[in-house]
Amino acid sequence: MFTEIAYKNADACRFCWMCRHLCPISNKTGNEVNSARAKGLLVSMVKRGFDFDPSMAKVMWECCLCGACTNNCATGYEPRSYIREARSEAIVKGIAPMNVMAVVDKMLDTSNMYGAANLQEKLDLSGVPTCGKILLYIGEVASYEVPELAAAAMRILRKAGVDFAVLKNEPTSGAYMGDMIGFVDEVRQQALTTSKAIDASGAEIVIALDPMDARIMKHEYAEWNCAPKATVLTATNYFASLVASGTLKLTKLKGIVSIHDAGALSRDLDETAPIRAIVSALGLDNHEMYRHNDLSMSCGGALLKQYDPALAALTCEGRWYDVERIDSNCIVTEAPGSYAVLSSKVPEGYEVTDYLLLLDKASN
Ligand code: SF4
Ligand code: SF4
Repeated sequence: MFTEIAYKNADACRFCWMCRHLCPISNKTGNEVNSARAKGLLVSMVKRGFDFDPSMAKVMWECCLCGACTNNCATGYEPRSYIREARSEAIVKGIAPMNVMAVVDKMLDTSNMYGAANLQEKLDLSGVPTCGKILLYIGEVASYEVPELAAAAMRILRKAGVDFAVLKNEPTSGAYMGDMIGFVDEVRQQALTTSKAIDASGAEIVIALDPMDARIMKHEYAEWNCAPKATVLTATNYFASLVASGTLKLTKLKGIVSIHDAGALSRDLDETAPIRAIVSALGLDNHEMYRHNDLSMSCGGALLKQYDPALAALTCEGRWYDVERIDSNCIVTEAPGSYAVLSSKVPEGYEVTDYLLLLDKASN
């Protein structure tokens, strides 16, 4: 059942609606049940003796755990705490929707959302060592769904003269599994496995390509006493430092772009400056969307796209609408999940790119 912390948060949300305007799901579906408040109300009903049934369970996955509600909460409540616990509870009770269970089963079998037996099969890792002081942690999305970003990151590091390693059969961090089934024992075990693999590589610095991985390593791993010995840096932060120091030399690009902030970076890790420093160094003119920095509207993310592609298409459409309202026709992403979602349906006359693709193009 739910923890007292989850109930406390749910009880706070159930009579409040102050963050509704920021929810990318309820904004697009128009359904009140998709707001944080409604989810809080459902969990508080369970606390008061109502049966947690399949219709309630379904609602708990109609959320991309983007944290916009949490970030905007003046009273400091955290809907993601009870939403994650509700997901765990629904799975234990056997009432999670079939589309969700299809992805959960893949994760429990293979530790990744794609059900891939070999997550690295699309990467060219020839000549890349598996041990070293600087470890590039690629993550499941950039390894499997958008491997062009991993390839670009490795080319940029080589051009900057950085000796880096990549773990062989890189274990997943547990970030996406933790969102899908909650922070249950399986996820903590996955975290421990990954942390041990990082330690065994001799890494002193971990460059996490996916902010979702950086977030769980910096926050939850520490809370679970399994943080790796190495310092974990987000890739945007690391690459911005290579640009600032002149280690990575760039030729200027030209044009107007709009940065799409990833919630894991802008809200959970409080990092909005590195991507802007990179875009500026590239000579690009960033025209901000109305909702940017920590108020950024989520595009849905890679996990939602796997278990509910129709809902992910709606959140993707919502973010493109934000670009269509300003004088920019190009989104620049800073997270593999954002790139995967936003590139899946690009409106005519618009384009999406990622800062790694831009850095690769502009560096020599
Ligand atoms: S997260 Fe905060 S603002 Fe949003 S419903 Fe809960 S209490 Fe209200
Ligand atoms: S985490 Fe994001 S999607 Fe989920 S209820 Fe909060 S704002 Fe909506």
